[in-house]
Amino acid sequence: MAAQLWPVQQAEKIIQKFPQADKYLLETGFGPSGHPHMGTVGEVIRTHFVAMALRDMGKEAVIQVFSDDMDGLRKIPTNIKAPWLEEHLGKPVSAIPDPYGCCDSFSGHMNNQLRQMLDATDIDYEFVSAAQQYKSGTYNQVLQLAMQRLKSILEVILPTMREENRQGWFPILPVCENCGLVNTTRVVGYNVDTATVDYQCDQQLKGAVGCGHKGTQPVGDGRSKFGWKADWGARWAVFGIHYEMYGKDLIESAKLSRQITKILDGKPPVDMFYEMFLDEEGKKISKSVGQGLSVDNWTRWGTAEALNYLMFRNPRQQKKLSRETVIQYMDEVLQMSAEAPEYRFIYFAGSRPSLPMSYSDLINIVSAVGVTDIGVLKSFARDIYGQLSGEQEQYLELLLQLAVNFYSDFILPERKFPRLSPQQSELIDRFINLIGSETDTDAIQTGTYTIAKEAGVPPKDFFRLLYEVILGKPSGPRIGGFVAQMGAERITEIIRRNLQHAQQ
Ligand SMILES: [Zn+2]
Ligand SMILES: [Zn+2]
Repeated sequence: MAAQLWPVQQAEKIIQKFPQADKYLLETGFGPSGHPHMGTVGEVIRTHFVAMALRDMGKEAVIQVFSDDMDGLRKIPTNIKAPWLEEHLGKPVSAIPDPYGCCDSFSGHMNNQLRQMLDATDIDYEFVSAAQQYKSGTYNQVLQLAMQRLKSILEVILPTMREENRQGWFPILPVCENCGLVNTTRVVGYNVDTATVDYQCDQQLKGAVGCGHKGTQPVGDGRSKFGWKADWGARWAVFGIHYEMYGKDLIESAKLSRQITKILDGKPPVDMFYEMFLDEEGKKISKSVGQGLSVDNWTRWGTAEALNYLMFRNPRQQKKLSRETVIQYMDEVLQMSAEAPEYRFIYFAGSRPSLPMSYSDLINIVSAVGVTDIGVLKSFARDIYGQLSGEQEQYLELLLQLAVNFYSDFILPERKFPRLSPQQSELIDRFINLIGSETDTDAIQTGTYTIAKEAGVPPKDFFRLLYEVILGKPSGPRIGGFVAQMGAERITEIIRRNLQHAQQ
């Protein structure tokens, strides 16, 4: 049964491909040319599931979060207001000052931010900086090997490039010793034995302009880096990576990188692509557009465990993210039995107390009472659900905060209470009488139908009216159950108050 879970399948593939390894290296990449986002964290969470499965099989597994901080800055991120960065375009991001002034470099700041986000997840990982690895010589041998096998590398890479870009392409980019830029250099000669390159700093890339310097320098010790088409495959070879996941948009790059790894005497990792998340309209969610619900702002309305679940559910399936998605995942994750095979993956950071209510219930309560004070809501919940344990109370508080955020962001702005016609008023009065005398869930439900039918009103119109009057929106939970849960007195009070609101 457990073998059906995808992390287990992935772990089995890894062990099958690398049966001799005594420790498995699982990599995720991070581009620190801008602020980290939850997408990066999501990839680490998924990789963590595979690491857990490997550990279940008695294997050692290490997650390596690799920061590409040797990459040149191509453009100033729109959310960073530091026009002076212009003069640093084309420099490795680890050699650019921190725009916020608090860390040792531009990428130092982004790396620290990512580490904070990761530390909050309770996942063990090793953080690896490309710049540090290049500088300390980890790449030296493989850089030299790439020059020696240049022909094979060109045979693989050039056909993937546009004709006009092929001329003079070289897998290694020197860092100009004069101006410090890396995006503006080109290699014009090389010597495998001395592991040096002749280069000119005369290229232009976006806002970066080469200084014109010509020189000869060693490729090792951080004086150069692999260019982007060769970089990923070289990294797999240098570190002996066993596993990596990536978004669907990188399928072609991964294919290319597997070939590069082999040329550089490495063995390509087991890899897996995942589908991207879509927004409510079904469009791919873009990093640069920070609107609507996304993985980035998920934890404003959902728990970390609901996010884990989102990452756990078949990564090969496209998922739309909407406000309904948060509710759905929250409800499922709160109802998940501790015996379910995925439970321990979802709750890897600690289990939760069982609660007598769902997240939808809480959102309905907040919508009905129209209150955002957590203390008041907690006492409501206590009335409805009875005494809770200290642990349950604490968890409820967190869920209520999320439900309040949900209510404030999505429901309150659209909340509208109807003004009633005389006939509608009479129907509502009959409903109040009904719930005053009936306590049984089903009796309330059928009684509500009967009220509508007797008055010649389509029942669905009457239910809609009730939702609008009670919740300020056109749909909601099953009325019978909701009234029984909230209590007739409270519902009556809510109806009276909301109708008064509508009169004002
Ligand atoms: Zn900083
Ligand atoms: Zn230069």
